[in-house]
Amino acid sequence: MAKDTLHRDVVIIGSGPAGLTAAIYAARADLKPLVIEGPQPGGQLTITTDVENYPGFSKGIQGPELMEEFREQAARFGTEFLTTWINTADLSKRPFTLHTEDHEIKAETLIIAAGASAKWLGIPGEAPAPEGLGGYGVSACATCDGFFFKGKPLVVVGGGDTAMEEATFLTRYASRITLIHRRDSLRASKIMQEKAFANPKIDFMWNTDVKEILGSKETGVTGVKLSNNQTGEESEFPCEGVFIAIGHKPNTDLFKGQLEMDEVGYLKTAGHSMATNIPGVFACGDAQDSVYRQAVTAAGTGCMAAIDAERFLDSLPVLVPTGEEVTMEGERVSADHESITMPDGEVISNKPDESEAAHGD
Ligand SMILES: Cc1cc2nc3c(=O)[nH]c(=O)nc-3n(C[C@H](O)[C@H](O)[C@H](O)COP(=O)(O)OP(=O)(O)OC[C@H]3O[C@@H](n4cnc5c(N)ncnc54)[C@H](O)[C@@H]3O)c2cc1C
Repeated sequence: MAKDTLHRDVVIIGSGPAGLTAAIYAARADLKPLVIEGPQPGGQLTITTDVENYPGFSKGIQGPELMEEFREQAARFGTEFLTTWINTADLSKRPFTLHTEDHEIKAETLIIAAGASAKWLGIPGEAPAPEGLGGYGVSACATCDGFFFKGKPLVVVGGGDTAMEEATFLTRYASRITLIHRRDSLRASKIMQEKAFANPKIDFMWNTDVKEILGSKETGVTGVKLSNNQTGEESEFPCEGVFIAIGHKPNTDLFKGQLEMDEVGYLKTAGHSMATNIPGVFACGDAQDSVYRQAVTAAGTGCMAAIDAERFLDSLPVLVPTGEEVTMEGERVSADHESITMPDGEVISNKPDESEAAHGD
């Protein structure tokens, strides 16, 4: 059966804080954006409970409720939604071509807000409630949830930079941190290791696999079931919270070989713009941010990506990762702003005429 074909000026992949903020801005600019909601409509915040650090909600708000507000705000200005996900993307020429199971979508500009997923161990007790204790003492984000664990003993699982960072941050709140690692040495960079080793609130447990997270919705987390992978000895270790800190994976596999990304898969964008290496493709939120990974920063970069797309569609120059600025028509302004390479290769000066410059702005 032939697929439905849609053609839009702005297509947004993802409906988390980044994608929906981009939609609000693009819709208010009358660009009638199409949001592909993806496998997790509303994004990562839909699997958490209290969000206390999103500005504007002095009493906090539940994650799913916050994302419903984002969606309604985007819909109010005319955003169109498709509750499906993108299987393939061809970014070799504009309009870009995207495929869902039932649609072929042509996009003049594309905003990628596909987020990232925390890596999990896949053990009993770890899943979001109601299956597991996610939201009831199990977390993968110290910045988000550390505040809820004041004076409590916590376990952090992992041995890389993420684990060192999370453990060090959590010492602000926790009574003690036990960092559990499956090997006998850390993978983290030297400086991160040294900071963690020097912190009197952090203990280390080596060669140990976490097999299960114990507790209930009523009690919260009460401990972890452990196995020493050298001796086979099994034990239980009491704690009141577990932070899984084994890294994140951006949802960017679709774009491998087309967009520049770092070794983990975070999309590369240009300093003060959200432009990727392909003119007309922008990236925002956790898909391009390996550092901050917060709802408010995702929303902020979503806003930036939409403004960049608006500029691009208006044929204005947009900064790209090389330091050049490109237009929709294919003109490239050099990084030093001295010259413009036209689509046919001709290079012309970008300096104002002496006579015009004399008149000022
Ligand atoms: C348990 C938990 C608690 C958190 N608590 C907080 C908190 O309290 N405060 C805070 O600021 N941050 C918190 N965070 C972090 C915050 O959720 C993220 O930083 C934020 O959601 C990132 O937004 P995003 O829009 O970039 O991506 P995401 O929210 O990850 O959304 C990605 C979107 O892309 C879609 N998608 C993915 N692949 C495809 C595809 N192929 N086709 C179409 N769509 C696709 C998904 O369906 C989803 O809608 C928490 C995260 C977790 C996991």
